[in-house]
Amino acid sequence: MATVIDGKAVAQTIRSEIAEEVRALSQKYGKVPGLAVVIVGNRKDSQSYVGMKRKACAELGIKSFDIDLPEQVSESDLIKQVHQLNVNPDVHGILVQLPLPKHINEEKVLSEISLGKDVDGFHPLNIGKLAMKDRDPLFLPCTPKACIELLSRSGVSIKGKKAVVVGRSNIVGLPASLLLLKADATVTIVHSRTTQPESIIREADIVIAAAGQPMMIKGSWIKPGAAVIDVGTNAVDDPTKKSGYRLVGDVDFEEASKVAGWITPVPGGVGPMTVTMLLHNTLEGAKRCFEKNH
Ligand code: NDP
Repeated sequence: MATVIDGKAVAQTIRSEIAEEVRALSQKYGKVPGLAVVIVGNRKDSQSYVGMKRKACAELGIKSFDIDLPEQVSESDLIKQVHQLNVNPDVHGILVQLPLPKHINEEKVLSEISLGKDVDGFHPLNIGKLAMKDRDPLFLPCTPKACIELLSRSGVSIKGKKAVVVGRSNIVGLPASLLLLKADATVTIVHSRTTQPESIIREADIVIAAAGQPMMIKGSWIKPGAAVIDVGTNAVDDPTKKSGYRLVGDVDFEEASKVAGWITPVPGGVGPMTVTMLLHNTLEGAKRCFEKNH
């Protein structure tokens, strides 16, 4: 049976470490890290993610700057807000909650965020550096960073291993594959046009699944002893639940946990780690800023 990686517990440990560092920074510089969370409109899911991020800031002593804009805000007004946050010395990280309303060009807005405050790690220059040999981005995208952190804190070595990433999105699959490559894995990316994904996944010592396809990866697709990180978060109908649904990953946990060496559950695996990595990025941004201005 696989070791089940407890994302909640790992996240809690890292949050305690961050809180400790925030206290130390406050004593040394008389200042704390600041994170601006910008939300446009009132989508329920976005409101709930933003609420979680702001609450986590409060728990760790990070100052949260809450920018709530109406659904109809113009692209130029949103960009003006971003520019103001770029020059605010108390803000060390800026997060614009996605998706934005259709009349706003997300790519344009994200590329206006100052590189040194891009705590989501989505700025093309940060991603570009992630893709280049011997270059280090200022920030790593939170979910891929969470996957690597879960592997390393579970004692799974990456160097020299065969890794397969399922999915190639800009926010998860692609940066996760680049991070694995930087850590000296031999990386294959599986996507919706890949033929016979099972034969490729079966070769992998490490699998990161981020396809958004409920329980697509079967136990028989997993190499015995492999480390399986399941990013997928899919709601499937479940009449036995009060809500009428339950969350499942991209991996058939029941089957795969009998074959894998390590596996993350859904929920309780990568999910709790993603917000924690955002807070970690904010801490890193603040440290760089305090040290530079000291
Ligand atoms: P996207 O829909 O943007 O990307 C999905 C990727 O999976 C695409 O590259 C797509 O390929 C590929 N794909 C789709 N179907 C298949 C298939 N049958 N076989 C192989 N590859 C396939 O999703 P995201 O990357 O944003 O998210 C992926 C999953 O991770 C979702 O379930 C999401 O909810 C979850 N998630 C969880 C987070 C967390 O913190 N736990 C954070 C972010 C996401 P192609 O490019 O060819 O279309």
